[in-house]
Amino acid sequence: MNTSAANVLSVDVVVIGAGISGLAVADSLIRAGVSVIVLEARSRVGGRLLGSPLDLGASWFWDGESRVSALAQRLGIATYPQYRAGDAVIDDPAGVQIYPGNPIDGAANRFVGGSSTLAQALAAELGPEKILLEHPVEEISLGSAESPDHLHVFACGQAWQAQHVVLALPPALAVQNIQMPAELPEQLVSIAAHTPVWMGDSVKVVATYATPFWREQGLAGAAMSRRGPLQEIHDMSGPDGNPAALFGFTRSARLHSGIDTEIREQLGRMFGSFAAEPISITIQDWSAEKWTNVHSGSDNYGLFGHPMYRTPSLDGRLHWSSTETAANYAGHIEGALEAAERTVTAITRMPN
Ligand SMILES: Cc1cc2nc3c(=O)[nH]c(=O)nc-3n(C[C@H](O)[C@H](O)[C@H](O)COP(=O)(O)OP(=O)(O)OC[C@H]3O[C@@H](n4cnc5c(N)ncnc54)[C@H](O)[C@@H]3O)c2cc1C
Repeated sequence: MNTSAANVLSVDVVVIGAGISGLAVADSLIRAGVSVIVLEARSRVGGRLLGSPLDLGASWFWDGESRVSALAQRLGIATYPQYRAGDAVIDDPAGVQIYPGNPIDGAANRFVGGSSTLAQALAAELGPEKILLEHPVEEISLGSAESPDHLHVFACGQAWQAQHVVLALPPALAVQNIQMPAELPEQLVSIAAHTPVWMGDSVKVVATYATPFWREQGLAGAAMSRRGPLQEIHDMSGPDGNPAALFGFTRSARLHSGIDTEIREQLGRMFGSFAAEPISITIQDWSAEKWTNVHSGSDNYGLFGHPMYRTPSLDGRLHWSSTETAANYAGHIEGALEAAERTVTAITRMPN
């Protein structure tokens, strides 16, 4: 890589990834007077927050997740409770049965306009000059002899010199796609490589309708199926049922050219003939998203929030900040915000 001074841009902090964690870090640091640039691989912000008004990534936050609710409130994003009233549907080899009450949906909350509005609103506050889209980071190296206290970050033929670098992307993705300094402890690299990406292999299916007709039949829209392809189904309509939608999870191994027909048949079997004729079916296969998923084969969720993530690496200059690194709520949006908070504290408390 060419690190000649003329090509190197200087900034206090480079944030890698414009998911909710990276955006929250950038937002807090800029408010604290720190100069920041966010480098994002995709042509959009939000990472695993995607879709509006219907969520193709994260949908819910739960009571007690104070950071998410405070952020939504500050950004002026309204929330509403997940629809849960009515009975559940069970679809197993014995047939379709109505299960009285709804043991499937716990109490949860959703964002009006979808969870991606959190990312959109934070990005709008930051402004386009602070977020460089389509800038996948390829390498991080230690500073040169003239700037030993800095790290260098390389993306799209450009180099940045920064006092701090924030890895706001899943750890496994970071060590797989970004060439790291040789000084990074081997044990940490191995932990990162084996840390699963939360929901990285999930496939979310959203079916939209003119009305939430199941509610009139006394159904909650919640269902479990052992005959698939959708294993778990929930009502994902907007406030007051508009737009009307059901969503379900399936597995990438079940995807094939005829899956739409199978989904229609299944929904019709479980919710009646009207359900077999959705206005649209959208299939979001996260397992095929190269900027989200890593096919590591690891399911060691015990590595979430590992203590090594909570101490910045490389003399306090490299910070681990995705939801997978959070001590609490790891995997959730709340975890991404907790990790962001820890990162901001570490950076602002460290003397230059
Ligand atoms: C289907 C699904 C359902 C979910 N449901 C919920 C839910 O209901 N409630 C909940 O709380 N959580 C849920 N989650 C999890 C939630 O989405 C995540 O916890 C959260 O969005 C993670 O944010 P993050 O910023 O840590 O990571 P990400 O959102 O993954 O952000 C990482 C960013 O880094 C970028 N990037 C990757 N590689 C590079 C690179 N080399 N250079 C530059 N940029 C790079 C990516 O493009 C991405 O924008 C769900 C996730 C999925 C997929």
